[in-house]
Amino acid sequence: MTINTKHLGRASGVAIMGGTFDPIHNGHLRTAVEILDRFGFESLRLVPCFQPVHKGLPSITAAQRLAMVEMAISSDSRLSVDRREIVREGPSYSIDTLKDIRSEIGPDEPLIMVLGMDSFLSIPTWADWQALIQYAHILVVSRPGWEPDLISELSAFCENYRAASSHELQCAPSGFIWLETLPSLEISSSMIRALRKKQESIAYLLPEPVQTYIIQNQLYQDNVTL
Ligand code: ATP
Ligand code: MG
Repeated sequence: MTINTKHLGRASGVAIMGGTFDPIHNGHLRTAVEILDRFGFESLRLVPCFQPVHKGLPSITAAQRLAMVEMAISSDSRLSVDRREIVREGPSYSIDTLKDIRSEIGPDEPLIMVLGMDSFLSIPTWADWQALIQYAHILVVSRPGWEPDLISELSAFCENYRAASSHELQCAPSGFIWLETLPSLEISSSMIRALRKKQESIAYLLPEPVQTYIIQNQLYQDNVTL
């Protein structure tokens, strides 16, 4: 018999992790599975953006970034891809995405937006950023021993919404901030792009099928025009 935990007030929640995924790598993937293991959320959806708002345009197509995310997660049923930002096109504002997902999952289900600390620190530049917390919790992943100096605007935001325990993320649909320290893998998409540019190996930084796709399609090489 399956118990519907929603009716017991213990819905386990939907986690989302947005990104450019240019390309997806093991830093993203380890973070996703560690969050799932630690918090027991029902699922985690990776949400590739169409057009990043705060950095330059990706050097490959949205379809190629999406294809790599799909390949990377195919072996873990708890991970899925949410294509809505790519389908929507235009600049990918997180607030639009959260509103959209919230309207689909209903008012009671916990929705958890997972962010790396670097993304969290840039939150005050995001569209309608103070409203994000009305639609989702914010789960910030940081490295052990790293407590950054928050600018005053962000530290006031944290003080207002910081959860007393991580359990609160599962007891309310939105409204809490939680900082979780995870061992970090020093991998970034820019590192992978830079290695490709220098024609050095990207092995073991990302899943093998993704590596093969990059090589076969000659992605991130300066001397190739798309
Ligand atoms: P770039 O190097 O181009 O900035 P990136 O590696 O940071 O790319 P994004 O797609 O911009 O990748 O990141 C998506 C999300 O994943 C962000 O919230 C970011 O903080 C987080 N993230 C990126 N790299 C890691 C990592 N190694 N460990 C944990 N989280 C990460
Ligand atoms: Mg980054």
